[in-house]
Amino acid sequence: MIILYLDESGVHSDAKTFVLSGLAVFEREIHWFTQDLDAIQAKYFPNVTEPIEFHVSQLRRPEDKIPKPFDSLTKERRRQLVDDIYKIIRHRRGVLFAVAIEKAWAWAREDPYERAFEELTNRFDLYVRRLNAQTPEHEQRGLIVVAESSYRDRLEILGRKFRGGATRWGMIRALADVPFFVPASNTRLLQIADFCANAVYGRYNGGYTRDFDIIAPRFDREESRIHGLTHLCNDSECQCLGCLSRA
Ligand SMILES: [Zn+2]
Repeated sequence: MIILYLDESGVHSDAKTFVLSGLAVFEREIHWFTQDLDAIQAKYFPNVTEPIEFHVSQLRRPEDKIPKPFDSLTKERRRQLVDDIYKIIRHRRGVLFAVAIEKAWAWAREDPYERAFEELTNRFDLYVRRLNAQTPEHEQRGLIVVAESSYRDRLEILGRKFRGGATRWGMIRALADVPFFVPASNTRLLQIADFCANAVYGRYNGGYTRDFDIIAPRFDREESRIHGLTHLCNDSECQCLGCLSRA
């Protein structure tokens, strides 16, 4: 089984870009990611025994608005912690997927969340089918796990629709079931997805590329062609990684 963990960024109304992103991992890799994040907790919070839910936006709030237990760290230590997590994403065996949608582009056509979800479902399905074509003796199935959000009801309907048949680009064939909705506190991999979504959002909404550049080598790709990153925008000459590869 290959599991794609997804989270969103840019839902608030003043965000110009909406992002859905996350990491696809083989089931046996989940253990290693979990162990890595547990080790980060032990390194930065040696006295906290309850699992800490890591969210990058909480670690980057203004100094007087940092929630517990992150407020026990200096700004520099918080920066290091965020970097440590991005380095895990870069160096462990996971495959990154993201859709960044300019809301001005999307609203003229359709709901950005639905479009992003359909696009990602299809990309992930194609990835699993590509793997299966390479190693038919180890046929894999894909499963999508989404961080719980206000979009849950609509996505459940969408998920059933996709499972049962056609998307805009083809047929979903390699997914095992409808998407599962899980609170981010329950799995370390959804916290990783939160970091992925934030890095992509930073790159596309604010031009902040540092986090994105660390994890960019992990986007699903075949040689020079990047399948894992889609940018939907009004700029027909956009030179970003996703648009260049699409062209
Ligand atoms: Zn672009």
